[in-house]
Amino acid sequence: MNRNKREKEFYSLDVGDSTFTVLKRYQNLRPIGSGAQGIVCSAYDHNLERNVAIKKLSRPFQNQTHAKRAYRELVLMKCVNHKNIIGLLNVFTPQKTQEEFQDVYLVMELMDANLCQVIQMELDHERLSYLLYQMLCGIKHLHAAGIIHRDLKPSNIVVKSDCTLKILDFGLARTAATGLLMTPYVVTRYYRAPEVILGMGYQANVDVWSIGCIMAEMVRGSVLFPGTDHIDQWNKVIEQLGTPSQEFLMKLNQSVRTYVENRPRYAGYSFEKLFPDVLFPADSEHNKLKASQARDLLSKMLVIDASKRISVDEALQHAYINVWYDPIEVEAPPPLITDKQLDEREHTVEEWKELIYKEVDWEERTKNGLIRGQPASQGAAVSQPPQHHQPPSASAAGVSDPTLSAPAPTGSSLEPAAATTIA
Ligand code: AMP
Repeated sequence: MNRNKREKEFYSLDVGDSTFTVLKRYQNLRPIGSGAQGIVCSAYDHNLERNVAIKKLSRPFQNQTHAKRAYRELVLMKCVNHKNIIGLLNVFTPQKTQEEFQDVYLVMELMDANLCQVIQMELDHERLSYLLYQMLCGIKHLHAAGIIHRDLKPSNIVVKSDCTLKILDFGLARTAATGLLMTPYVVTRYYRAPEVILGMGYQANVDVWSIGCIMAEMVRGSVLFPGTDHIDQWNKVIEQLGTPSQEFLMKLNQSVRTYVENRPRYAGYSFEKLFPDVLFPADSEHNKLKASQARDLLSKMLVIDASKRISVDEALQHAYINVWYDPIEVEAPPPLITDKQLDEREHTVEEWKELIYKEVDWEERTKNGLIRGQPASQGAAVSQPPQHHQPPSASAAGVSDPTLSAPAPTGSSLEPAAATTIA
């Protein structure tokens, strides 16, 4: 395609402090969020005739941290195909050559709200357990591909008004420097597991801790361990859960152990105290049972010693969650990650620029509207849910006023509750 024709395909508009230069097929851009990597807009895609989300990554190759994250995200988003992980519909850059290359635009399925907004709602057990089930399904799928997230948080989880949920990112690379990420953004550490805070080895159930913290926040309506920094984060954990056993302390390296041993000792509180009945809907016998199941699940997820913490599979089988169990969702075949060095890559800015530019490969995509040989209109990552999981049709929800309706659990006689509006 010649240069002039390409130029005509794009237009620019200001979004906050940033300028978005996007393909003309994307109209009606409105900012819906921002993160460490940049601004996210909703837009209407005239080719696919649907709303989408567009995230701008500005000069993603500018330093190791940005580049590794952007490249990893791009590669993984293309490989992973699961209904609880965000799907990539398109990727493009408006710049014409690798030399001029600056920005990447990721086009994704548009969701209605992130989980921070949902946490403010009074959730009933159906919605709460269904949201947790979907987090576990998404995380299990990442684990099956060898990706351990380690940094799940409410801002990186998005939901739709029909109560469907998707994880937005792929967490920390194995080689990521967990302390020095993404200035000037304050890194949220509230959801990081003790083994991450204390720099220990970790296994897949590191992500169960984060899901436990998110569940606790949805129940309480406030952050469970709101540490102001690494050290305060640990204080908040032990104040509530109690100082861990000697057996755990022996697993720490000498300097960390010395620090941990020198903290004041805390007895911690029982889970009945931490999550009393008043926090749960417990107005009927059924809801009382559900509240005790929810508390039991919390007590098994929020265990400081990872060797004693529940696994993702065990959480999926827990009585509070397994009402939703569907093998098609839980046991979906793992994606094949072709780039085996994804986490180890170290490059110069110029090398990153080339690598990311190659991944953007815009011409093929915009020409064909294809991602991995699938028509983009189907969504790269969305498979139809099985019928018994099909939630009742969502009310027409805008981004600013989403609703959450709850589906009926598998084999349950529960009536789905009325849609609740997020204030
Ligand atoms: P991120 O830059 O990926 O951390 O996203 C920042 C924020 O933008 C998220 O917390 C969401 O509120 C919003 N967001 C990102 N992607 C989407 C999407 N696909 N649909 C709806 N909102 C999104």
